[in-house]
Amino acid sequence: MPQAVPDETADVLIAGAGFAGLCAAIKLQGSGNTSFILLEKSNDIGGTWRDNVYPGCACDIPSHLYSFSFEPNASWSRMYPTQPELLQYLRGVAAKYRLHPHTRFGAEIQQAVWEQGQQRWRVETADGRRFFGRVLLSAMGPLHIPAIPDLPGRDGFRGPAFHSARWDHAVDLAGKNVAVIGTGASAVQFIPHVAKQAAKLTVFQRTPPWIMPKRDFAFSDLQKDGFRNHWRRRLFRTRLFWLHDIRALAFLGNRKAIAAAEAMARTHLERQIADPALRQKLAPDYRLGCKRVLISNDFYPALAENNTELVSTPIASIAPNAVVAQNGAITPADILIYGTGFRTTDSFSALRIIGRNGHTLEQSFAHGMHAYRGVAVPDFPNFFFLLGPNTGLGHNSVVLMIEAQMNYLLSLFRQMARKNLATAEVKPEIEAAWNTSLQTRIEKAVWNTGGCRSWYLDVNGRNTTIWPGLVAEYQLKMRRANLADYITRP
Ligand code: NAP
Repeated sequence: MPQAVPDETADVLIAGAGFAGLCAAIKLQGSGNTSFILLEKSNDIGGTWRDNVYPGCACDIPSHLYSFSFEPNASWSRMYPTQPELLQYLRGVAAKYRLHPHTRFGAEIQQAVWEQGQQRWRVETADGRRFFGRVLLSAMGPLHIPAIPDLPGRDGFRGPAFHSARWDHAVDLAGKNVAVIGTGASAVQFIPHVAKQAAKLTVFQRTPPWIMPKRDFAFSDLQKDGFRNHWRRRLFRTRLFWLHDIRALAFLGNRKAIAAAEAMARTHLERQIADPALRQKLAPDYRLGCKRVLISNDFYPALAENNTELVSTPIASIAPNAVVAQNGAITPADILIYGTGFRTTDSFSALRIIGRNGHTLEQSFAHGMHAYRGVAVPDFPNFFFLLGPNTGLGHNSVVLMIEAQMNYLLSLFRQMARKNLATAEVKPEIEAAWNTSLQTRIEKAVWNTGGCRSWYLDVNGRNTTIWPGLVAEYQLKMRRANLADYITRP
């Protein structure tokens, strides 16, 4: 008979071992708490940067900003880090802080239940393991469940078909007819690589993205030597921080700044695409910033290649060996690649998290996600989000948000320890007031008013994903927790 795996107990359970989970673990360690377990559904750390291995995958935030403030890396090879380099960075960080002994791989959370009597969380994983912890941190982020549109005939497609976050490197694209659906942040990165290999590439675009030039370059040895100097590196990061952070002011309602950026993006399009018909198809008809602004120097040129075609007619269905457009046009396809993004606004409610009195997160989020400061939800004692509702960014590095959230939680945990308190649960009226003010502010911002549909908005048109402010403002707000905002128990 197989041996039952014994239950494990720790003070803090952390769900996910990507940027957020690793940050949580390191900051807990730094505060003197070494009783934590990282639960990772996959067999490696890295989160997004482990899952997304499509050709050309890179981050559109500079490397010196898209990294932990407490773990700088003078050796970044270039301005914008590629996926392999980011994964290597995260692996190095996990090794340095000896996080592997704390990590349980293949631990896909099936449900998490708050046991009121014991004042602890019970987490059950798909392979039958059980973990107990006083605190449960969700470090999963909103972009990990691939969204594959339910197009008629989809499952009858005969050739290989895969999503950008599940790239099948065993599939040889050389000499094939490849169809790509989507022109979002991931697609604009892999399309130039697919265009180089495929005999024919057809890109199905629903909404043209706004694209700015990518000012990417490799750092010289001299520059890297410079970054070994603490102050020079800090100055560089601070400069990058503010250059990115002030963009929020444009997104929050500065129409002149948005118009100036739109002019830059239009010039970029005109310089790279000579064909007026193709240019027209690629010209967005909504305000810049409404969807994530993309940066690329090779996406437009790839579409201008002879073996590439951009189809902007909506897709009607998928045939066994073709994509059928709504005007009846049939595009033969040997391989189908979905660059169609992620299930975002329901990604958290898909989790079976059961709080006080059997209340589920799905019930709490029935009318849209919400959380106090993006971290705490009423009825869920000692459960906290990292990168939770309304803490995503369209303009700066989310690593900054994760660090701010951990600083806040450590402040809360410190105060609880001092007063010998076991549980904290945000007061409903405090959370409601926070969200009312946040939603009032976000309603005027370009994500809501820019005339587009994006994953920032949920099915009710509510923006439950973006932080409507400067990161600097969020950092200030998150410096210290106010224990009075919470219902606490000894
Ligand atoms: P995405 O930005 O949501 O793009 C999905 C694309 O698929 C869009 O062009 C969308 O069209 C299209 N699409 C979806 N359903 C469709 C359908 N039924 N028919 C036709 N087209 C359809 O997804 P993503 O590119 O994977 O990026 C998701 C997020 O990941 C980004 O917003 C960003 O936050 C993050 N990301 C970041 C980086 C980075 O460099 N930091 C890189 C990649 C991804 P519509 O626009 O019309 O909806």
